[in-house]
Amino acid sequence: QYDTQALQALDSAHFIHPFTDHGDLATRGARVITRAEGVYIWDSEGEKLLDAMSGLWCVNVGYGRKELADAAYQQMMTLPFYNSFFQTTNVPAVKLAARLASLAPEVDGRSFQHVFYSSSGSESNDSNVRMVRRYWDLLGQPQRKVIISRLNAYHGSTMAGASLGGMSGMHAQGDLPIPKITHIGQPYFFENGLPGESEAEFGLRAAGWLEAKIVEVGADKVAAFIAEPIQGAGGVIIPPATYWPEIQRIVDKYNILLVSDEVICAFGRLGHWFAYEKFGYKPDLVTFAKAVTSGYIPLGGVMVGDRVAKVLIEKGGEFNHGYTYSGHPVACAVGLANLAIMEREQLPQRVRDDIGPYLARGFEKIAEHALVGVAETCGFTAGLVLVKNKKRRERFAEALGVGMMCRGHCFQNGLIMRAVGDRMIIAPPLTMTHDDIDEMLRLIRQALDLTQQELHQ
Ligand code: PLP
Repeated sequence: QYDTQALQALDSAHFIHPFTDHGDLATRGARVITRAEGVYIWDSEGEKLLDAMSGLWCVNVGYGRKELADAAYQQMMTLPFYNSFFQTTNVPAVKLAARLASLAPEVDGRSFQHVFYSSSGSESNDSNVRMVRRYWDLLGQPQRKVIISRLNAYHGSTMAGASLGGMSGMHAQGDLPIPKITHIGQPYFFENGLPGESEAEFGLRAAGWLEAKIVEVGADKVAAFIAEPIQGAGGVIIPPATYWPEIQRIVDKYNILLVSDEVICAFGRLGHWFAYEKFGYKPDLVTFAKAVTSGYIPLGGVMVGDRVAKVLIEKGGEFNHGYTYSGHPVACAVGLANLAIMEREQLPQRVRDDIGPYLARGFEKIAEHALVGVAETCGFTAGLVLVKNKKRRERFAEALGVGMMCRGHCFQNGLIMRAVGDRMIIAPPLTMTHDDIDEMLRLIRQALDLTQQELHQ
């Protein structure tokens, strides 16, 4: 049905892929993905793969949902586009904003009644930078410009998104970070915990890096702290339970805005509509994208908490910021239909009470594998570390590329699992059955065995 080689040749001749080594791509040829259904994708050769990454952390309701296609079709036939600049609005954008506001839980009397729309997580985080700086300007504290972020964080690929992110490889390309963005260490116990230190102690110490940075910069110069509830693209780094409460204490103490980047963690991934609820902290802004439409169409945005919204709206005048597609009617219609599916099928609750614990039990067994140093889950996402020596927790030399080796075995044997250095990670659709999870665990174990064999050859 498909001429794979011809497609690969066109691909290599014309398509610059994101985050891809094109020398490598030209020799191997890209795998051409042609269709998807449920939790599976197929390539142009008819090979079937279990998609344990939900596309790119987004297809939370699984593939092949006719309701979402119908919602897009209906909206395109009614009003395919109109902008939301200059005092116009549209029905799906209004309804989705109200729906999102009703889903975002109130914590200690702080609620989220407002939404700012974009088309992606990166744009949303750019909007955050502008919004927090505008907030302090409007309050007469224009010197508060510095935004603190974390090493190994991923907040997108635009100039501000990549600057907020803490990936050195990204900073090296493009002279980043832009001014007034600075980073602290990540709460990665396996890597940064000290001998004899408990996880709880480490969580407090890692949060303390924020306080030290605020003091170093000067509290009166700091606008905000931004972080993912758990670091996703950085390797599913799950902070110790003591981390977030201590972060909250610190941002409260210095009166600093807290931005929760939930592009991966919202919409059921961690068992809640929004992840700050799981960890019990109180953000002022929440970035979302990806699963708000389950990736069926691009949409992103920022949930704007009362504290910021009040200032922007009441003191504001015009906020000179926005995108052609802010509040795109088709994207918002798909978003509404997607949230309706999630609600009907109780996906956040399903993660909390059923498939999350089921996956956690499966990962306890995976953790016993000789190649696995630690394996951990949070909601319906998981990560494991490949180690050279399990007892001594000795890690492989980076140059060996053990993660990519393991990923290769997954890819060859019908499983999409991602490698981040020596960490292997998953974030499967929230619609997986127990049988799907069993099959996924079997394929992971098989890939670990094959990696081990290759290492001993
Ligand atoms: N923030 C987080 C936490 C992400 O994981 C991502 C993408 O993976 C982004 C922002 C960027 O989103 P986008 O790729 O939609 O621009």
